[in-house]
Amino acid sequence: MNSFTYSSATAVEAAVREKTAHDDAAYIGGGTNLIDLMKENVARPTHLIGLKHLPLAQIENLPDGGLRLGALATNADTAYHPAVAERYPLLSQAILAGASAQLRNMATDGGNLLQRTRCYYFYDLSTPCNKREPGSGCSAIGGYNRIHAILGASESCIATHPSDMCIALAALEATVRVSGPNGERVIKFDDFHRLPGDHPERDNTLEPGELITAIDLPNKGFAKNFTYLKLRDRTSYAFALVSVAAALELDGDTITDARIALGGVAHKPWRVREAEALLIGKPASADTFRQAAGRIVQGAWGHAHNHFKIELAKRAVVRALKQATEMTYALDSNAFLNTNP
Ligand code: SF4
Repeated sequence: MNSFTYSSATAVEAAVREKTAHDDAAYIGGGTNLIDLMKENVARPTHLIGLKHLPLAQIENLPDGGLRLGALATNADTAYHPAVAERYPLLSQAILAGASAQLRNMATDGGNLLQRTRCYYFYDLSTPCNKREPGSGCSAIGGYNRIHAILGASESCIATHPSDMCIALAALEATVRVSGPNGERVIKFDDFHRLPGDHPERDNTLEPGELITAIDLPNKGFAKNFTYLKLRDRTSYAFALVSVAAALELDGDTITDARIALGGVAHKPWRVREAEALLIGKPASADTFRQAAGRIVQGAWGHAHNHFKIELAKRAVVRALKQATEMTYALDSNAFLNTNP
């Protein structure tokens, strides 16, 4: 780990000014990913700006019936907050499917959006990686790529986005509030994370110096019919091979609204609007779900070790939609809220 200086910010504007003034500074909230990256010398900031004293940890109602998650609210406080658990249980379930209790106690909501890929080569300084060292090459494309992308990848990078929380936020159509040198702005969740293209070193659309201050949830929470299905190599403390956030609105047996977002398959949470539209007005049946699943993986391609994910993603979508309809959960995906400490 390189040596670095540290200061603790007490106001958002001051934090932004400080970040803008230092070329190699980084914000630090919970630090659950950044410290790992620094220990491995993947990230080498020369200055850290501590955010923990900023007044950004509240979870509060919005006038339009939505809910604002302060960027510094911890993942644990968010998952177990009564308003989230009751009105946005899909989000609670997704958060609790990720990491461990200790990590969720430290990790912040803003930081969750910014966590970096778990591609093995990204963390291995002895191998080429375009995300870590632009222009050096991608070791995963011809290497071991079991956990890598099947959708939206490029010839520069086939990494996947690692968050569970973000998959639910994509399905819920959250927005991200940021503050930067040019003031405040709001970013639609779909526009927040990027596909790799020719610049895999950029995970998101934040401009230099910008700080996430909050995540806003719209008032529609799909609290009656939802599920977060996470499929992984072991049943806890592992990243998703494929995950699905499914949310439905039903009128009897007929689907009146649908959201489907996938994790573990692309460089960002993956949504296909045409697949969701296919469900509207149709009966909530296995046939309908299979049509949507087929549309979602249209254009998917695998590499030497991850072809299986294409079929796995299709089956996961069908199963998640069935679970959302019936509100039944696989045992491994729903310790949900019974683990409230
Ligand atoms: Fe690096 Fe992306 Fe290739 Fe992984 S997939 S080695 S992160 S460029």
